[in-house]
Amino acid sequence: MEHGNGIDSRVVRGLGAVNCLSWAMLGGFFIRPGERFSLAGTPYLLDLVHRGSREVVIKKGSQVRITTTKFLECVHGCIFGRFRQNVLYMMPTARQVEALSRISFDPILELNDGIRRYLETNTAYLKTFRGRSIYFVGAVPQKVGGTKDSVSLRSIPCDLVIRDEVDLMDEGMVELSRQRLRDSELKLEWSFSTPTYPGYGVDKLWQSSTQNHWEIKCSSCWHYTCLGRDFPRSVGVIDGRWERICVKCGKRIDVKDGQWVPAFPDRSIEGFWVDGLMSPRADLGQDMARLERMEMESNRYGRSEFLRSVLGIASLEADYRLVEEDILSCCQLEPRWSSYEGPSAMGIDVGNRLHYVIGIRVSGQTWKVLTAGEEDSFDGLLLLIHRFGVRSLVIDAQPDIHASRDFLRRLSGKGVRGYRCYYSELMPSEVETDELEGRIKCNRNEWCDRVYSLVKDRQIQFPAAASLPSDFPSQLTQTARTIVENEQTGVKKPRWVKLGDDHYFHALLYFLLAGRWLNVSIMDREQKKRTPASAACRYLIRG
Ligand SMILES: [Zn+2]
Repeated sequence: MEHGNGIDSRVVRGLGAVNCLSWAMLGGFFIRPGERFSLAGTPYLLDLVHRGSREVVIKKGSQVRITTTKFLECVHGCIFGRFRQNVLYMMPTARQVEALSRISFDPILELNDGIRRYLETNTAYLKTFRGRSIYFVGAVPQKVGGTKDSVSLRSIPCDLVIRDEVDLMDEGMVELSRQRLRDSELKLEWSFSTPTYPGYGVDKLWQSSTQNHWEIKCSSCWHYTCLGRDFPRSVGVIDGRWERICVKCGKRIDVKDGQWVPAFPDRSIEGFWVDGLMSPRADLGQDMARLERMEMESNRYGRSEFLRSVLGIASLEADYRLVEEDILSCCQLEPRWSSYEGPSAMGIDVGNRLHYVIGIRVSGQTWKVLTAGEEDSFDGLLLLIHRFGVRSLVIDAQPDIHASRDFLRRLSGKGVRGYRCYYSELMPSEVETDELEGRIKCNRNEWCDRVYSLVKDRQIQFPAAASLPSDFPSQLTQTARTIVENEQTGVKKPRWVKLGDDHYFHALLYFLLAGRWLNVSIMDREQKKRTPASAACRYLIRG
């Protein structure tokens, strides 16, 4: 083995078999033409590999080299027998799989004989080393079970699932990927991503983890600074240049003087926060100038992107998100109704409680919500269906498929069209209806777009705010659309994500779906007269 560092080649081989980073460094591996793998400037990578725990989550900023490092660990595990079964490497889309393979992985395989000699198969979707394979998939539902390599992924037993950019993935696929580990002794799961929203995706995983921070010890005062957590106090100008500084004494600090310190050492999921300021490639001057410009322009979205992509901090700012004023401006003076002759439509979101929205169509594209609220039981919903002349309804198929199916069965023969709704990320805009099964499927992102624009354009009327459940307006603000760009591939993808309790948002969405079967309602005077016009009616409804 060629090494040129004066160490006996058996020692090199022995050390290389134990640790993937020793293997890459002692083997002098190139990660791209002219650039050898090195830990210079990235000492934090050392402890991110060969972790003892089953599940590892890494919340990261840009250019911190997690993907390359984890790929090397993966290949090493295949070659040296750490894995007995295969590895599943998930990216958000198939296009990203192809780009990542071409830009990051193939050069490593081509440039290094120490890896290439074990390589048996090499396509963008499959790389095999000594009989163990790494399968690469775009985490979108239609790719599973019928990839380009015509391999049924459901049947591939895996020891490790990697989710690269987990925040951009279909949540159902994340769940499904766990099933591949069923027959594994190791059951390893590694998830890493640039965060998007607080409490979502990688940030949610991180919250439940050991939360390791890279604490840098100041060589002057011995105080510890974590660049990401202590930002912006952790950077400052010394001799006209932006530098990483100690938050206590303001002297320059060096990333190499850091160590991982867990906030919750007893937890089983190991979490690491690798912020972009730790990267040797970080240009602090440029970053700070960019941040300053955003703040001068009051560009909240740009600032939020900075927090996410540079610091690896989840941020609440979204490009499309309703605010409470949007909802209040759709509210009328009239309080919510206590009954209606019909026909009306109903949307139901199933959670611990049942949230509903009942309304009518007032013209081709405009809607009126008659009432909204929550019930403990399906019996309560049946009463409402009767009282409001509900003729079509759509209910959340998940989380409890049996409960929603039983409920629809109880409606049969009552003249109500009822459907369970499944969300999909990828299907085209037409809603798929399965009359026999009483099931519809719709594109989640597109229908979230519709709810958003309907409220923004005031094409929907809500009852007087005081007569609505107090959390109705706020719950409509808890679903937000963001466009996240993958740093390596440049692919942008819009996505609606949940920020908090958003039951009424989805109940409203289901109401719109159910409303597709409604004709325009003629609200005659007789009917209006029979409606209690006082806010007291809400107590009647709630019983
Ligand atoms: Zn100090």
